[in-house]
Amino acid sequence: MPRALVKVSNIDPTTRQITMRRSHPWINNFNEWLLTACRSNMGIKFIWSGNDAKALVYYMTDYVTKSTLAFYDMFALAQQGIKSIEHERISNSTDNIVDKSRKLVLRCFNMIASQQEVSGVQFDFDRTRCPGENNYGIIHDVHIFDVAREHHTTTIKEWKRDIEARRDETRNYLISGEDTLEVRDDETQIEVVGAEIPTSPIKTKATRVLLVTATNLVLFPTKQNIVKQFTLNTQQKYAFMIITSHLDGENHAYTDTIDNQLLMCIPGCGGTGKSQLIRAITKYFQVTKRDKMLRKLAPTSIAAAEIDGLTIHSFLGESRKNSKKKQTRHLKERRCRCLSNDLTCWPNASSWQRFNESIDGRLVSPKPSAAVCNYNLLNTDACVIATAQWTNASWRSDQVGAMQNHNWEKSSCSISSPNISCSQGSVPVLAVNATLSEHVQATVRMATVNNLRLVIKTTGHDYLGRSTAAGSLLLWLHFMTNMTLIPDFSSCTGENVLNAIRLDAGVQWGQVYTWLAQYNLTAIGGASGTVSATGGFLQGGGHGPLTRWKGLAVDQVLEFDVVTADGRRQTVNTCQNSNLFWTLRGGGGGTFAIVLSAVLRTFPSPSVLSSFNILTIANETRYNSFVHNFIHFLPTLADNGWAGSFYMADTSLVIIFLLPNGDLNVANATWNQLMKNNTDLNFMQPFILTFSSFNDFFLNVLAPFNPTGDNVLLGSRLIPETIVRNQPEQLAETFLRIKGKAGTSLIGHLVAGGQVSNMSNNNSVNSAWRTALLHMIYSQSWPDGTSDEEQQKLAAHVTSQVDILQTVSGGSQSGAYMNEANPNELNWQQKFFGTQQIYDRLKSIKQAVDPHGLFVCKNCVGSEDWSLDLNCPKMSSANKVSTTILLFVIMQFLC
Ligand SMILES: Cc1cc2nc3c(=O)[nH]c(=O)nc-3n(C[C@H](O)[C@H](O)[C@H](O)COP(=O)(O)OP(=O)(O)OC[C@H]3O[C@@H](n4cnc5c(N)ncnc54)[C@H](O)[C@@H]3O)c2cc1C
Repeated sequence: MPRALVKVSNIDPTTRQITMRRSHPWINNFNEWLLTACRSNMGIKFIWSGNDAKALVYYMTDYVTKSTLAFYDMFALAQQGIKSIEHERISNSTDNIVDKSRKLVLRCFNMIASQQEVSGVQFDFDRTRCPGENNYGIIHDVHIFDVAREHHTTTIKEWKRDIEARRDETRNYLISGEDTLEVRDDETQIEVVGAEIPTSPIKTKATRVLLVTATNLVLFPTKQNIVKQFTLNTQQKYAFMIITSHLDGENHAYTDTIDNQLLMCIPGCGGTGKSQLIRAITKYFQVTKRDKMLRKLAPTSIAAAEIDGLTIHSFLGESRKNSKKKQTRHLKERRCRCLSNDLTCWPNASSWQRFNESIDGRLVSPKPSAAVCNYNLLNTDACVIATAQWTNASWRSDQVGAMQNHNWEKSSCSISSPNISCSQGSVPVLAVNATLSEHVQATVRMATVNNLRLVIKTTGHDYLGRSTAAGSLLLWLHFMTNMTLIPDFSSCTGENVLNAIRLDAGVQWGQVYTWLAQYNLTAIGGASGTVSATGGFLQGGGHGPLTRWKGLAVDQVLEFDVVTADGRRQTVNTCQNSNLFWTLRGGGGGTFAIVLSAVLRTFPSPSVLSSFNILTIANETRYNSFVHNFIHFLPTLADNGWAGSFYMADTSLVIIFLLPNGDLNVANATWNQLMKNNTDLNFMQPFILTFSSFNDFFLNVLAPFNPTGDNVLLGSRLIPETIVRNQPEQLAETFLRIKGKAGTSLIGHLVAGGQVSNMSNNNSVNSAWRTALLHMIYSQSWPDGTSDEEQQKLAAHVTSQVDILQTVSGGSQSGAYMNEANPNELNWQQKFFGTQQIYDRLKSIKQAVDPHGLFVCKNCVGSEDWSLDLNCPKMSSANKVSTTILLFVIMQFLC
């Protein structure tokens, strides 16, 4: 609304109302002296309401001053300042009210300024308000101020001269050209002579603008109306006509290919009416029904609000001050997570309801896997099913709350000894059963905005318990199950890959093998058909029956489709997000991004020869001698292309080996070398089985061997090939020493060497894989109801068994496969990731892609920066130093 004009600025002593002199009733609050003093070309903004005040404070703190401190940090500091003043008042109450308020403002300023660099604007702003006042510690220099004022007066004059000069220049340009536009000073009529005019003196190439003539007035009578309505002065009208005529010309007159973009700069200091001009232009777009063509951008939010537009940064979808944001968000986000038992921060029911609506109602309430059999949550029918399916890994994958090894559920619910009050344990109370990328993105947003602990789960196979956490929000990807065959995949590097496959996050290896069998193809997956194809298995490396033949699963990745911690969906391959591509191939699940799908290589399915034997040898001495023979024989098997696993417990040995595309005669000859010295043992016949495809072998031999539903802890080591070849005696002795007794077993996987060693893929998988031949696992289980104390003893036992294993694995620098490892592993960074150097690189990429630690999981990259329960950030040493300095500074001010 127009405001009353006054000749001179004045303050009404009774109402304390300040009235500023302005040059025009429509122009915003403009006072050249204040502008000069502020060294600013912005209008002075009146603070009409609380919102205005907040916007202004935000504007000053977060934009104008380019402060390194966030808005809320400023408040905290200002509060410190107020407290210190109040403290002083108790001892010194002689100050009058003016001095007191000055002191207060200055103290607050000092508190804030002491924590940041003071910008020129801020410095001058302060000087303007309190010239010459240096008795409260602020650095003031009247001389400098005067010099600055002089300088700014000169600058204002220069602006004015510049505007005049440009106006004349433009007018002359138009007059001297073939086509002339005359702007009359009576501000009512615009007359155009000629057909083409250059629209800007800066543009030398003529740009056609539709004639602005009397005809135009007929065609677009609204122009004059708007000019009048917005009381545009001569310059404003001139600019308005150029722009609107150009607009009309584009729509109505242009048929040729002349560059029809109008680049026009309308300079002028604050209050000269630029915003008013924009409002008039906006009106014209509206009345001619072209408002959708208009985008109004401004560098600051206040300026944007003034013209009802957007800031340039939000229009471009970028944060305004990335570097600053990183710092402040870092402070903001790295705080203790909000858990479901904290009702002060956990979103309320209506927030969850809104969120649920936004994800197509896919919010579910997980329960521990045994809950339905316990008295407080009893569901008899469901309990019958749970009991029957307890050790079925597929059933467990289908339960949102279940982990394969239910010790990770940490619940008092039990299938074998039901409880009257079974607890939720570490099973999240809410989960998103995501089927679309949008669900995943919305979940990331929900977790970020509310500072929730987020966990990702696909199948719950994790041996480190990384896919569940008490009080968290669970993102469950199990039902993202698309599989697509890509006959001709063009990689970003130009490589053409035949029969690549894209597997969605929830796909499990058993499904892949069966699906690919129809195309006579196979892929490099796990021995377990229920482990997810693209989740933790793949991102941690992925070994399996065919890895010696073609390399680790992770060596087959061509591309990922992911949602990153900032909620963006991104393609990740060698060319795009290449750092993330490197980390996702070996750096571990749940750490860097949420994998929606992966593109993998496939291979024509091999035929498979398999040796499957269960030996139980009553005599311990005989058992030991056979184990020695067998370990000696492993290099021979490896050299002949065999792979497989063996399980040692008490005096039994189970052997499941396979040879892809093998020759039966050669295979028999190979195994005969072992058997000829052990004819007294009862080997199963036929000793070698033949399968026409890998899927046949998988369904008949491996699939039945997938037991879960136990409480389990593991520890493991990758055994270097040189040790297997050169020290088989020590190896056999060690295996016999730690082999399982009741509830334990020692598992050997001959899954490394061969192509695993030959692969030179540039990925982050533990380098110990490349030199290993065997992956040895010590496994410990225990029944429900085992006391905490006993469980701790078992955990310590696992660690000590692995220590023994380590003596034949290369000592302290040995490596372990993170996906099948001891959660209590010391020095896990080196063990799981190979070297400190690799770990450091992983961590720096982690910091870049997930600066606020949205993805935190046990023994995952960066998890050492969090408390044991991973809910609170530990203070880094850098933070500690700066906090100490901050405290010191605060104390200085308080004293
Ligand atoms: C019975 C059994 C058999 C096994 N057999 C093999 C085997 O043959 N070969 C082998 O190498 N390993 C095997 N493992 C180990 C297996 O690789 C790990 O348990 C692995 O973590 C499983 O990954 P998952 O996604 O299926 O499990 P989950 O428990 O669902 O997830 C494991 C980790 O990956 C994260 N994660 C899951 N999905 C995603 C995703 N889409 N994006 C980002 N992060 C994700 C989770 O947050 C978690 O940190 C076996 C485990 C069990 C229990």
